Amino acid sequence: MLSLFSWLRRRRWLLLFSCFLTLAVVVPEHADAARRKRPTQGSRGSKRSLKKKSGRASYSKSKGRRGRSARSTSRRGRRGGRSYYTPSFSVPSIDRGFSTVIVDAGHGGHDNGGVPWQRISEKEMTLDTAQRLASYLRGRGLRVIMTRTDDTFVGLGERVRIANATSNSIFVSIHYNSAPNLLARGFETYYFHAAGYPLAYRIHRNLLSAIPNEDRGLRRRGFYVIRGTRIPGVLCELGYLTNAQEGSEILSRSRRQALAEAVGRAIVETRREGG
Ligand SMILES: [Zn+2]
Repeated sequence: MLSLFSWLRRRRWLLLFSCFLTLAVVVPEHADAARRKRPTQGSRGSKRSLKKKSGRASYSKSKGRRGRSARSTSRRGRRGGRSYYTPSFSVPSIDRGFSTVIVDAGHGGHDNGGVPWQRISEKEMTLDTAQRLASYLRGRGLRVIMTRTDDTFVGLGERVRIANATSNSIFVSIHYNSAPNLLARGFETYYFHAAGYPLAYRIHRNLLSAIPNEDRGLRRRGFYVIRGTRIPGVLCELGYLTNAQEGSEILSRSRRQALAEAVGRAIVETRREGG
């Protein structure tokens, strides 16, 4: 026992260093927790990168439509019983010619979004981008309902209620990201119900083709606003405000306009072609 103790003493710095390394690997990168209202069970999801499209993992639109009903995806992520991946309702796929887009500017009021130490306010960037998206869509004949139009707090439940109160519609939530890893940058696009996948795919693809940036993946995750909406929904993470370079890019109006138009083009395309 004594020899074990002295062995541990001699190697304590080695052990401390190992612990540090383990923590560094385990700490999650995404810190935009405010929007997430995390489900009580795990958040395991599928990550899809459009970069992989040409390789073994091909996520074509047709595959998305053919093989991904809400029922089939409900089995994924099940761990010892019911998980949040089990939708309690089914969401119809996107109708060609849908009339309304619910544009959801993330955060607002006392909810700044992001992490406390970040320099650029997420709630301001999301509202501005959402307004740009709304005017782009209105200019193309779509009806737009915004979940907030100024700096007020709107709860996640209220956002879902607004979305679910309108039929023949889709839901698009606008966010920016943050991370302790200050080098993290790029686009992430999320859907939950299978019906949201075709729109998420087009948004992610349009973003990457309009703006050269890191492809951080098209993913299925159970974020509250896209889990509770009974219409096809997508949550866009349009870049990292904690990355100095990407943050300053997002501060420019032209960048936010380009982001809004890329998302808008994907919506118009989806309206024309259906989901
Ligand atoms: Zn956010």
